[in-house]
Amino acid sequence: MTEELQKNLNLVNATLSEAELYEHACHVLNFDQETICPVKAMEEQGEVNAFLSNKAFRLKKAPAFIAGAEYLYAHREEFGEFDRVLAESLHREYQKTKNITPEMDHEFSRIFNRAFVNWLDAKKSADFAKFATSLAEVRNVNFKQIALREDSRPVPYDNLLDVYERGITTGDLDKCFDECKERLIPLLKKISASKKTIRTDFLSRTVTDESQRKMAEYLLQTIGFDFTRGAFTTTEHPFTDGLAKNDVRVTTHYYPDMFYSSMFSIIHEGGHALFEQNQPAENYVHHINGLKTLGEHESVSRFYENRIGRSRGFIHLIYKKTGELFPNVMQGVSEDEFYEAMNLVRPSLIRTEADEFTYTFHIIIRYELEKQIINKNVNINDLPRMWDDKYEEYLGIRPQNAREGILQDVHWASGFGYFPTYALGNMYNAMYYNCMSQDIDVENTISDGRFDVINDWMREHVWKRADRLDSKAWIREITGREFTPDDFLDYIEKKYSAIYGV
Ligand SMILES: [Zn+2]
Repeated sequence: MTEELQKNLNLVNATLSEAELYEHACHVLNFDQETICPVKAMEEQGEVNAFLSNKAFRLKKAPAFIAGAEYLYAHREEFGEFDRVLAESLHREYQKTKNITPEMDHEFSRIFNRAFVNWLDAKKSADFAKFATSLAEVRNVNFKQIALREDSRPVPYDNLLDVYERGITTGDLDKCFDECKERLIPLLKKISASKKTIRTDFLSRTVTDESQRKMAEYLLQTIGFDFTRGAFTTTEHPFTDGLAKNDVRVTTHYYPDMFYSSMFSIIHEGGHALFEQNQPAENYVHHINGLKTLGEHESVSRFYENRIGRSRGFIHLIYKKTGELFPNVMQGVSEDEFYEAMNLVRPSLIRTEADEFTYTFHIIIRYELEKQIINKNVNINDLPRMWDDKYEEYLGIRPQNAREGILQDVHWASGFGYFPTYALGNMYNAMYYNCMSQDIDVENTISDGRFDVINDWMREHVWKRADRLDSKAWIREITGREFTPDDFLDYIEKKYSAIYGV
């Protein structure tokens, strides 16, 4: 490496380290806001957050930093893999943000913060009108961001997808979701018409928060969560935040009459946490941790939640402990009944409570609406009706109010393009599950509780290079195949045809 290149690399690394300090503080504030921050302090705290994130933004807008980063990009072929990946990601980011001034950035953050507060209020009172203005503002921010991009794509929505899932386009998703609708809708009809009855009476038996907390801890322990480098608590809307190399926070929510909700939520968030806790140390040295796409992340959380959590092997593993922690729930419930109930297919309105089968429809609905909001500029006030109509069309049920309809998710308070990553995650993990099965007897390894074996495989094949590859290249490297929803659809058809005998 030339002296000039080394000098520029040092400058870039030093600036990124400084920006990361502000960003770390923002993550702590975010975590606080989502967990124990008093409601009246939210807006003020949002201001602090916007101020600090703007500091980080300004550091990365400094002309010397940009010149340094662009120099690295011009000389990227002289680097090893890590620094090359960094140079490419900085260049991509620069293309996206070079025309956004710090004042605009600050204004965008304030709009998102205000939208979050208004969304909370609107959801509480099930009144979409309280959120409509904010939602229009958020959409306008997305429009501005797209218009300001140096490398803007002709299909507006592609620009948003690119933020969360580099390389995936509207064309890919249309094809993938059409196939899902084609194969899943007829099967859902057969399942709904089937004579099979799944025992559900015990699902609403009540459980204390304290028992649920013990269960959450047990599940995190079981899958290999490192408690010395992570913590968990409760929140309204469960999420995971990787604050720093040795600090990953997961959250859950306890419903007294839905004991399984927190169980699968904590396994899901625990999956995200495992991904973060098992990063190569070089990712932090080279500032590339955080480049993994959301779909890559979701593939892992859903792998633990569904492919593992809802498997026969896992139900066998936790059956006894569940009886010990929730004795009144599990009284007289067999292992088979427990397995079937955890895999009940029941069209429902709330995405986060949806079963594995119908979940994909919740994403398709949001995707189809988002595409229209961004590509066709629909009237914001028409959205609640459009939302309800789609639930009726795909799932045969209709929300009674906006709280169980369009206001249920927080995501739109900070923009569009995020939801498809959830469905993509299921498709990625179905592809790598099939590869894992060639090396490991997955079902028996799970029922033996040998998560060291599962996690070793994941570390080597799935986790190691996620930050260095976009999702299409990443899935191709793991599986030797191109991205396809087929593995996922085959798995769903096989599993649910067996459970329902159809
Ligand atoms: Zn997730």
